[in-house]
Amino acid sequence: MSFKDLGLAEPLLRAINDKGYETPSPIQEKCIPVVLEGKDVLASAQTGTGKTAGFSLPMLQLLSQEREKHNRPVRALILTPTRELAAQIGEELKDYSRYLHLRYTVIFGGVNQNPQVRAIKQGVDILVATPGRLLDLHTQNLLRLDNVEILVLDEADRMLDMGFQRDLNRIVDILPHKRQNLLFSATFSKEIKKLAQTYLTHPVSLSATPENTTVEKIEQRVIRVDKDRKTALTIKLIAEGDWQQVLIFTRTKHGANRLSQKLEKAKITSAAIHGNKTQNARTSALAGFKSGRIRVLVATDIAARGLDIPLLPHVINYELPNVPEDYVHRIGRTGRAGASGEAISLVGGDEVDYLTGIEKLLGEKLTRQIILGFEPQDPETAPIKKQQEQRPPRDKKPHNGPKPKHKQQNQSNAGDGAAKPKKRRDWRRRR
Ligand code: AMP
Repeated sequence: MSFKDLGLAEPLLRAINDKGYETPSPIQEKCIPVVLEGKDVLASAQTGTGKTAGFSLPMLQLLSQEREKHNRPVRALILTPTRELAAQIGEELKDYSRYLHLRYTVIFGGVNQNPQVRAIKQGVDILVATPGRLLDLHTQNLLRLDNVEILVLDEADRMLDMGFQRDLNRIVDILPHKRQNLLFSATFSKEIKKLAQTYLTHPVSLSATPENTTVEKIEQRVIRVDKDRKTALTIKLIAEGDWQQVLIFTRTKHGANRLSQKLEKAKITSAAIHGNKTQNARTSALAGFKSGRIRVLVATDIAARGLDIPLLPHVINYELPNVPEDYVHRIGRTGRAGASGEAISLVGGDEVDYLTGIEKLLGEKLTRQIILGFEPQDPETAPIKKQQEQRPPRDKKPHNGPKPKHKQQNQSNAGDGAAKPKKRRDWRRRR
């Protein structure tokens, strides 16, 4: 299957070719024709599946087929939970629309609204926005949304997690009743299903890959270790594995800052990325990480959401998330694009309950490892019965570092990360 077979027009095919994409990803194969037909879509797809192009390409085609409207009112609205994701979608739109006469802009909170207002005043066909800033500008009468034909809700689950439900309802109320709706979500909770029922009309349900396909590509390791030894273990793993690009998740912003400082002290270049950082600080941290100047990015869940970091070989859960779905999002940062990756969780005695929840969601038990010199002293505080049910048989010998298989993969992945291949990945290899 080629992009041409999907019914995309020549200017888009040229832009896709410039990007170096060879074949459509599974979600693109499914999504593009359906969107081109004007149907609503309910898609299960995580970051890394190519979902952005999956909705952007056909959306651009539909918009370009119509004659330009006077004053260029907003005709497509893309809502995202975070500024980073909004900015990344903007970047992709820029590339895909380069041979079309369409205009877009990106708006989000935390920065001066004036440049955003100016851009809107000049007329944009596509608006990428976070819900809060969008409503802000609308309330100030700086923005009209009565010509919106296409609504995209990207990472809808995350928008609900972040408490945007009411904002979303308010936004949808403002929009014209007759419109095409595309909803993307990595997980499908009751709330998301309800949202889909309320907002979408006879949607076509699509899924990128069965959810656990992503997970299967990822080597998951759980290391039991005491809380106060986690930093030392993290440093050891990074230094001994000579890992050059590591994403670490912490539960709190302070935790992210603290760990980042300690890594720096250990001569491992690092930056923290979380909601208290300015937009500029986040952008420069991400750029430093992508370029290899920063070896470790320490992030909270919300800040990391939507970060576009291809081919990430190592993810460390310094602390487990208390929402099991977040674990899937986190480890989805590795093992992308057909390459295998490694996700390591450092689990203290007080986190065993979280681990149980994660194992339930995954439908598999994860073997606990113990690293020599880091044997846990703290007791597991989960209810005894639960532990006995969930705990797989103890390893006879404690593992000391990764298995040789891991090592090989790590090295080759680190190499991939360091020297980016010229051609983009071929999605066929994913299967
Ligand atoms: P997304 O899931 O939208 O965040 O996309 C993840 C990454 O895949 C982005 O860096 C895209 O540029 C890239 N990508 C999207 N579609 C393709 C494709 N068909 N072939 C290769 N790379 C792609």
